Amino acid sequence: MALNLVMFGPPGAGKGTQASRLEQSRGIPQISTGDILREAVHAGSELGRQAKMIMDKGELVSDELIVGIIRERLRRDDVEQGFILDGFPRTVAQAVALDEILTGGDPLVIIELNVPDSSLVLRLSSRRVCGQCGATYGSSDGEPPSICANCGADVVLRSDDQKEVVLERLRVYQEQTQPLVAFYQDRVTFRSIDGNQSPDTVQTAIVAALDSVLAVVREERLSVG
Ligand code: AMP
Repeated sequence: MALNLVMFGPPGAGKGTQASRLEQSRGIPQISTGDILREAVHAGSELGRQAKMIMDKGELVSDELIVGIIRERLRRDDVEQGFILDGFPRTVAQAVALDEILTGGDPLVIIELNVPDSSLVLRLSSRRVCGQCGATYGSSDGEPPSICANCGADVVLRSDDQKEVVLERLRVYQEQTQPLVAFYQDRVTFRSIDGNQSPDTVQTAIVAALDSVLAVVREERLSVG
């Protein structure tokens, strides 16, 4: 069975960190819509130009645009064994579109990372990223380097991690993304995890949650089959 996973949670909850660890351990791709948009900005494409203005304000790009990107991405061969969505869906309309894209396939597993707003503000304002390769240096890694350990480029504050933009992103999350919990929470494949712990502890909790979800799905299939 393919592992079709949504890492869900507010900005700064650790979705990217955990998605990247799962990508390594499970060998399935992490698909970050934020990274896809930042790459477009970096490349200076028309999509990048449109997205940059919206991202810098902390708002969401249109459902139509982002669903189109995901629809294309999920057509590629590398998602045959599954995928980890990081930053998508972010609205109920996107979640409905995702269900439609995946119709007839393996079930969607949703892991929510719960972190209080006070920790998120602190995490995001102390996070730094490489302006070249996008490597992230989080608050739990200690003092961030000024030069990227990966590629040697400058490590900077992400333009949308400035305090005012962070507050707007959290407001947008509450308003447009939080309603997805109600959309997903009755599914047997939904699990909520305390994300306000060390990355290693969160990772262990995610692995346990995935094991329990997959056991439930297999049991349901046996009883149906
Ligand atoms: P992230 O790196 O996931 O925090 O995303 C950075 C920014 O990209 C967000 O603040 C949005 O402006 C945009 N973005 C990323 N994913 C989505 C999405 N699923 N829907 C709309 N906008 C998105």
